[in-house]
Amino acid sequence: MFAYFANLFDTNGFTRRWDCGAVWQDDPSVGWTHIVSDVSIFAAYLAIPLMLVYFVLKKKDAPFLPIFWLFAAFIVACGCSHLIEATIFWHPLYRLSGAVKAFTAVISVVTVCALIPNMPKFLALRTPEELNREIEERRRAEAEADRANRAKGEFLANMSHEIRTPMNGIIGMTEIALETDLNPEQRRYLETVKSSGEALLSIINDILDFSKIEAQKLDLEEIDFSLRDDLGDCMEILAFRAHSKQLELVCQIDPAVPEHIIGDPGRLRQVIINLVGNAIKFTTEGEVVVRVVPKKVEGDLCRLEFAISDTGIGIPKEKQGRMFSAFEQADSSTTREYGGTGLGLAISSQLVELMGGKIGIESEPGQGTTFRFTVDLKVQHNPPQPKEQTLDQFQGLPVLVVDDNE
Ligand code: ADP
Repeated sequence: MFAYFANLFDTNGFTRRWDCGAVWQDDPSVGWTHIVSDVSIFAAYLAIPLMLVYFVLKKKDAPFLPIFWLFAAFIVACGCSHLIEATIFWHPLYRLSGAVKAFTAVISVVTVCALIPNMPKFLALRTPEELNREIEERRRAEAEADRANRAKGEFLANMSHEIRTPMNGIIGMTEIALETDLNPEQRRYLETVKSSGEALLSIINDILDFSKIEAQKLDLEEIDFSLRDDLGDCMEILAFRAHSKQLELVCQIDPAVPEHIIGDPGRLRQVIINLVGNAIKFTTEGEVVVRVVPKKVEGDLCRLEFAISDTGIGIPKEKQGRMFSAFEQADSSTTREYGGTGLGLAISSQLVELMGGKIGIESEPGQGTTFRFTVDLKVQHNPPQPKEQTLDQFQGLPVLVVDDNE
């Protein structure tokens, strides 16, 4: 075996085909046909693997890449056998020819062995026509699902609208009844009716908003407003809830935040009330802080960043990514304890996106949570002039001293 491979180029004892009278001298066309054909086959067998290698390098994600490499090697080996065949018309390199053929045989057998088990997979490959048909079917199914989704959204929107009207009637009438002469028991009953009605109305409003956003039917308004006044009103609404839990509610607005802006104050308030409301809901002691800073002010455009931090229960890292999807809650036990539908954050994140911003969470379980969001707003061109204020206006007024909560 070793002697065979050691003498691959040894031509002793072999005649050249050139000398074979029958093949060459009597009819040279036979010899030339062999030579030209073998050399042409070699050229083609070299070009095909080159194209395969080019294909494999360009399409790195194509299936069955090892099979392509094997094919390339197999075709090159066949090409080499043909080249040697052409050569031995002059040089009787029969040993080398035998070795090349043996090598080709090995690669051929390996290729066959690799192909056979892959046959079912090749058969499962879809033809371009099949793929086109499948894409068409999927498109149809997607359009169908979209239509169904829209119908569901419209149904939800209509139903919540229809429920909201009588609900307002129930709450309004209960409020009027509460102003009449009632005994303590009747008052308690009616107060329960009122608070349950309000809770139901808030859920219905959430569903209505969510379905409107899903159906892309929610348009933002462009109204002149003062951020400081608006945020002050929000804090007033929320302060009662915070103080009833002995929490400190702080609001800091950077002096560089423009005073008079244009945007949708109602929707901005909705996001802030939802985030601060959650912060109060999920915090038992400490503080809830709202900070507003300008991120960019260019001409009459400004990007503001709002950060709502609390010292509450926090949200585990693995749950944070999903918190902005509808009906997601960090943990069912907190839902049992604190209530809620899991729609607030989904609505807030979609509203923030509609206002050209982004929302994110930073949180450590047990340490607290910070929700940070940005919104793009316009700065008013001709803001109303502030009323002139003189010092004697403040005479006799109480002084508010602000302190930290330690
Ligand atoms: P809801 O409060 O109605 O359940 P949200 O979408 O507003 O719905 O909130 C989803 C969930 O995110 C809450 O159930 C709670 O698990 C978690 N979460 C939101 N805000 C906070 C917060 N400040 N601290 C801890 N968990 C929070």
